[in-house]
Amino acid sequence: MAFSKAITGIDRSGSFRIYMAVSTSAVQEAHEHHHTSPAVTYLLGRALTGTGLMGLMLREPGYRLSLQFRGDGPVQQILCAADSAGHVKGYPSVPALEIPQKEDGSPDLGALLGNGSVTCIRNAVDLDEPYIGQVKLVSGEIAEDIASYFYTSEQVKTLVDLGVRLDENGDTAAAGGLIVQRLPGADEKAIDALEAWIPDMPSISDLALEATAAADSDPSHIEQIMKLFMEKAFLGMPEEFSVQPLELLNFQWQCDCSEGRLEQILISLGSEELNRMIEEDGQAEMTCQFCEKTYHFDKKQLQRLSMVASVRERG
Ligand SMILES: [Zn+2]
Repeated sequence: MAFSKAITGIDRSGSFRIYMAVSTSAVQEAHEHHHTSPAVTYLLGRALTGTGLMGLMLREPGYRLSLQFRGDGPVQQILCAADSAGHVKGYPSVPALEIPQKEDGSPDLGALLGNGSVTCIRNAVDLDEPYIGQVKLVSGEIAEDIASYFYTSEQVKTLVDLGVRLDENGDTAAAGGLIVQRLPGADEKAIDALEAWIPDMPSISDLALEATAAADSDPSHIEQIMKLFMEKAFLGMPEEFSVQPLELLNFQWQCDCSEGRLEQILISLGSEELNRMIEEDGQAEMTCQFCEKTYHFDKKQLQRLSMVASVRERG
């Protein structure tokens, strides 16, 4: 059963915190909404999983963030957004591309984004001023870029691993991710042990594939499956820094677009532009970029919005 869920954990010495997700169903929904080719599903799936985990790291209710990966490569941009409740959405500018190859013929996923930057915008519902951080893309393969963002922009050493596995039809067989962050007052021995463990780290997409298969045969035990997912990831850590699963969290694809939200965008165009739309087309159509849902506005609705806009313009 394709599912998505997240879990937090901490090592026994309290030196680092872990966020992990199985994001198979969320990545599959992204693929279905945007009809992405395998190459773009790999990239969007990683970005979606990383952004979703970062959303959960915000902890406080009502907080949200977006990550924009923008580069000079053919995919141009991948934009993902998530909130602290585990809702995630995202889209690529160009959804259907082949995997570029290096000179030796090996796949070069990073070339899809090319040279560019990752921008993180973080805000709370009750705050006007968002926090904005931007760093250059390191590899364009997403996980390293997110780790570089944390290190450069937030001065926190962070380990990020993201993986997507596709089946022969290009559907998502499994997707998952892991973020490990050093905690204040960390025991240096724990951090050394963590660094020594990195080369032996099991593949996150293998672990996600195992969890997805386990949920297939036993969908009523997601909590045990997620705990095992975390424990297996950190099996190689020494006993004194072994990892304890803490909290099971929601992780799901969800677009929060609505007619009301798009009405606000139309109003912000101004009464002059709205009147031009009324005269020239007599209606308007808007498509949400995140979920491809189309909203229709008839003449009457546009006239009402134009009135709201002109009242606002008169202040
Ligand atoms: Zn939408």
